[in-house]
Amino acid sequence: MSGTSSAPGTLEQVRAFLNTWRLPHETRTPADDLPALITRAADWRAALPDIPRPHPRDLDELLTLRADLRAALGRTAPAGLREWFERRPVQVTVGDEAQPLCYRPGDDCAAAVIVAMVAAALAEGQWARLKSCPDCRNVFYDHSRNRSRTWCSMYAETPDGRACGSISKVRAYRKRQRPGR
Ligand SMILES: [Zn+2]
Repeated sequence: MSGTSSAPGTLEQVRAFLNTWRLPHETRTPADDLPALITRAADWRAALPDIPRPHPRDLDELLTLRADLRAALGRTAPAGLREWFERRPVQVTVGDEAQPLCYRPGDDCAAAVIVAMVAAALAEGQWARLKSCPDCRNVFYDHSRNRSRTWCSMYAETPDGRACGSISKVRAYRKRQRPGR
């Protein structure tokens, strides 16, 4: 896992959940790991240890949640998530000095746990730093000071870095070089 793309705390679990939908570079055909993951207990635990494995009948709800969360990426106040907070209410309780407020799921189903994780990230101002790469749609956490990162891994500084920014720059350069344009 890339240290430069990982999100802090439980938001990393949400990021992993969002990246179960992928657009592989080789095929550019969307791939969805969620339907298979839901049926394999050991794989689910390895990939999303803090999220209870859902029942297969809950798959549709999770697919909708994932799509709505992806649509809400990068926003400080995503109005599109209002319905989820009504549907899966989050309990707010007093924690300790390090974390004065705790955001607890209303029940222990996967969707409720994910919504509570998103609530904590919104409250901490971390949610808006979670972004989807415009090229490969990979979800990454923007650690930059002024939240200026656009691509998943601009210079492929890490083993799993895809260097989408560099790839798109080369593409734009080649387009400019083409005669008659
Ligand atoms: Zn990318």
